[in-house]
Amino acid sequence: EVVKGTKQTSRVRVAVRLRPYMHKQDEKGEGACVRRLDTETLEIINWRNATETLQYQFDVFHSEETTQQEVFLSSVKPILPHILKGQNASVFAYGPTGAGKTHTMLGSQEQPGVIPRAVRGVFNLVKAKEREDEGWDYSIGMSYLEIYNEKVLDLLSPSAQDLPIREDKDRNILIPGLTHTPLSSFSDFHFHFIPASLNRTTASTKLNQRSSRSHAILLIKVVRTQRNPPHRQQTGKLYLVDLAGSEDNRRTGNKGIRLKESGAINLSLFTLSKVVDSLNVAGGGRVPYRDSKLTRLLQDSLGGSAHSVMITNIAPEYTYYFETFTALNFAAKSKQI
Ligand code: ADP
Ligand code: MG
Repeated sequence: EVVKGTKQTSRVRVAVRLRPYMHKQDEKGEGACVRRLDTETLEIINWRNATETLQYQFDVFHSEETTQQEVFLSSVKPILPHILKGQNASVFAYGPTGAGKTHTMLGSQEQPGVIPRAVRGVFNLVKAKEREDEGWDYSIGMSYLEIYNEKVLDLLSPSAQDLPIREDKDRNILIPGLTHTPLSSFSDFHFHFIPASLNRTTASTKLNQRSSRSHAILLIKVVRTQRNPPHRQQTGKLYLVDLAGSEDNRRTGNKGIRLKESGAINLSLFTLSKVVDSLNVAGGGRVPYRDSKLTRLLQDSLGGSAHSVMITNIAPEYTYYFETFTALNFAAKSKQI
């Protein structure tokens, strides 16, 4: 059985990235259940029930050999020029904990991910525009926030808790009180972003893997202003999102506060999947943006005239069978028209 989406472009592009097999993620030594058949087909095998072999095809499939550079070039770089023209965009990494979301978005010093490459890319595009001098002046700034338990937290000013999400008369989404830091260069970005993201990692070990239970959202804003009258001004927003783990926490026996968190995570991820579905399915009806903080925040940058990419991260080890199966069905469904 081949679950096949159409080749039509959907309003949210869905890419799938398979990470390499890792021994340390396969404690029971059960091996891999996912393999690549060709450049665009992957197969998932249920070893316990060999008749259950499914093949999936996606418009964009990044195999385990795909480099960080290739992921950036194919899924993210093409949307950057739109930000400079006052349009909005969002890139998010979806999938279970351990499947490679943070590797894809943040990466490491040796293998930088989408975030540092995109920010560098925006600075380079702005520099090129200023050299061409078409009469616009540009300014770049950042905000960095987290949605945890359906609360918006400012990662650049950790005392700001539970910020409100508002909409202005032009339907732009705003967060009053959220820190906005102007940036003059890539190293300036590095200076502000790294301590804030390290804060988050430290908190995660203390608070029992909080990072896998919250959505980390980096916002890069580019404002351009016409130098001469009428001094028109346009703002483009780029959201780079490392989503909470998509695993079903009810299955892993979470109780009490953990279960409450799971409920909140499931609400925003569940709503995100409904939003993506109704955007990509013709005649999808009402888009339920208001049903969660995450989708409400992304409302002006997901669907509509915005450029959106979802990178679904999956892991090959059999341990992940159920989560991979679920994530692939979501990704396959999301791209059907
Ligand atoms: P997540 O953020 O989804 O929980 P991580 O990004 O932390 O997952 O990845 C889990 C582990 O797998 C990390 O040690 C990470 O470095 C490694 N990893 C993930 N994707 C890749 C990849 N494409 N190539 C090499 N290592 C990877
Ligand atoms: Mg992570």
